[in-house]
Amino acid sequence: MTGVAVAQKPDKKYKVSHTPAEWKKLLSPQAYEVLRHSDTERAWTGALLNEHRKGTFVCAGCGQELFKSDTKFDSGTGWPSFWKAISPKAVDELKDYSDGMERIEVQCSGCGGHLGHVFDDGPQPTGLRYCMNSVALKFIPEKQK
Ligand SMILES: [Zn+2]
Repeated sequence: MTGVAVAQKPDKKYKVSHTPAEWKKLLSPQAYEVLRHSDTERAWTGALLNEHRKGTFVCAGCGQELFKSDTKFDSGTGWPSFWKAISPKAVDELKDYSDGMERIEVQCSGCGGHLGHVFDDGPQPTGLRYCMNSVALKFIPEKQK
């Protein structure tokens, strides 16, 4: 499942952009493979799978806010799942025909990093399931008052 370069939107200018060599220095090896080469982490291995505190999930590549904890749900798939992005502008959704399936790939709109896929079998009110790689996200807990 590795080796496919992220299909970035043609001509899209990202707020955060680095060469592959720079990304390699900035990211952990696992995050690099997921964010920059569309790899998928093994189910049930992600550090954020059982993160239930209140807070915000941001892109591990560029820090852009992507998901709120109150849209996270237990999908039973082994990957952190959300029913809505923090804003439609936070993510780019692209058709993905890799691995012999037709899916919608979800990328961070700030750096073009691969986050995961979105499916239409999620809970209400959106019916969507953003199936994310834990390693592509960082969790920022809400500050205690
Ligand atoms: Zn990003």
